[in-house]
Amino acid sequence: MITVTNLIKKFHHNNVLDGISFEVQKGDIVAIIGSSGAGKSTLLRAINFLERGDAGKIEIDDVRVEIEKAKKADILAIRQRTAMVFQHFNLFERKTALQNVMEGLVVVKKLPKQQAQQIAEEKLAKVGMLDKAHFYPQHLSGGQKQRVAIARAIALNPQLLLLDEPTSALDPELVGEVLETIKALAKEGNTMLLVSHEMNFVRKVANRVLFLDKGKIIESGTAQDVFEHPKHERTKKFLETYY
Ligand code: ATP
Ligand code: MG
Repeated sequence: MITVTNLIKKFHHNNVLDGISFEVQKGDIVAIIGSSGAGKSTLLRAINFLERGDAGKIEIDDVRVEIEKAKKADILAIRQRTAMVFQHFNLFERKTALQNVMEGLVVVKKLPKQQAQQIAEEKLAKVGMLDKAHFYPQHLSGGQKQRVAIARAIALNPQLLLLDEPTSALDPELVGEVLETIKALAKEGNTMLLVSHEMNFVRKVANRVLFLDKGKIIESGTAQDVFEHPKHERTKKFLETYY
């Protein structure tokens, strides 16, 4: 289980994350929705210490880290249990799809090359990209690049997969294939924290939804609760615009 408690992040005295607390159960797909600037990306980044929070606690299974006291080993322990998928894929341009997926397995997990390759091929197959294993990113479409990025993330076998708007940089006709890939991962019981503007998708795939507004979770519940019966005025307005 993943627990975030009273997470605070300030940028120049501005509380971008203003006391965030929530839980993610194993196998849950929790979606974070909210307006631009609400703090969604900062929240994902603070969870795996891409951004250092100012206070709060992060727990992933047996690892419990108080942000203020976190040392290198604590940060590493959290990073080993999470993997992130970014809006702009962040693939290594000079490596093939296969090499991109192998990289973390060899460098971080210290697996022998042969074993890394076997896992990488298995994950590429899972996202429907095995036939493009030897392509470089520049020869892949946006949707294909994102599927490679997803394969790279799941190859690390993270307890928590963090996805920050994985489809928002894609042409509309490429969104579907990435959503299908994420849906398939959800079916397999991967635990995910997903930021997305694709409300129809969130509605279908997420079992819980957090609505973030100015650094606070002002509404949360099952996808059905939040989409069908939003309580807060801000949530209603947001859904009127985006859903
Ligand atoms: P979007 O939907 O546009 O991606 P978001 O909800 O992901 O928005 P964040 O990127 O988390 O929003 O940003 C939240 C707030 O924090 C914004 O007001 C932003 O300007 C501010 N912010 C983010 N990163 C920094 C930074 N490195 N320095 C200063 N302010 C920052
Ligand atoms: Mg963002």
